[in-house]
Amino acid sequence: MAIKVTVWNEGRHDKTNDAVKALYPNGMHNFIKDFLSTDENLIVRTATLDGPDLLTDELLNDTDVLLWWGHMAHHLVPDELVEKIRIRVMVDKMGFIPLHSAHKSKPFQAIVGSTGDLVWSDNRMEIVWNLLPSHPIAEGIPEYFHLEKEEVYGEPFMIPQPDELVFTSWFDDGHIFRSGLCYYRGMGKVFYFQPGHETNPIFHNEYVQKIIRNAIYWAAPANTPVPRPTCPRVYSIVEELKK
Ligand code: ZN
Repeated sequence: MAIKVTVWNEGRHDKTNDAVKALYPNGMHNFIKDFLSTDENLIVRTATLDGPDLLTDELLNDTDVLLWWGHMAHHLVPDELVEKIRIRVMVDKMGFIPLHSAHKSKPFQAIVGSTGDLVWSDNRMEIVWNLLPSHPIAEGIPEYFHLEKEEVYGEPFMIPQPDELVFTSWFDDGHIFRSGLCYYRGMGKVFYFQPGHETNPIFHNEYVQKIIRNAIYWAAPANTPVPRPTCPRVYSIVEELKK
């Protein structure tokens, strides 16, 4: 069955920074949409802070997996929308994939439960190590791959211990960072992925594209029933099994 993906991008750098415009002439969201759309199993739509493609209730409620790129305008995302996203993940099983600087986004903080603070430094060469080669998100990814130049995110990364740590990165100034990690939250799944600074050609990288695509399949809603929120249990499971 097709997976409905929405790529959210605050879309501010894309309009104001020449380096970003050169890498992503139609915006990062459309670039991500284009490489994902080569997979005919994915129905990909976009939403931005300023529109015209807004993240309406209708679109959010029709989204299986939400990708989130934001950096300079986290504070402009309405709290009401953040709460709707949190409920979509925790109750309705929507997958959530915060990319790069989304570690400081309101939805990441609300769903994962942390500040997402980290140590920062300027661009260096990054090696992304594949720590869990048997994980579905690591499928087709080599033992390691390198990014010629990427913004340094370093430890300590102020997050709850991840449920699964798929990738860890080393930068050539010595910093290390847990760069690809999974959380299970309520009925939903979250995959945070660090590469993706707007002035570097990160989303052009074939392994980055593969990881994002793999993560969408992993985070898509599981075909399992949502437990009935009955407390205390007013029915007998044994009686139910006899039927
Ligand atoms: Zn960045």
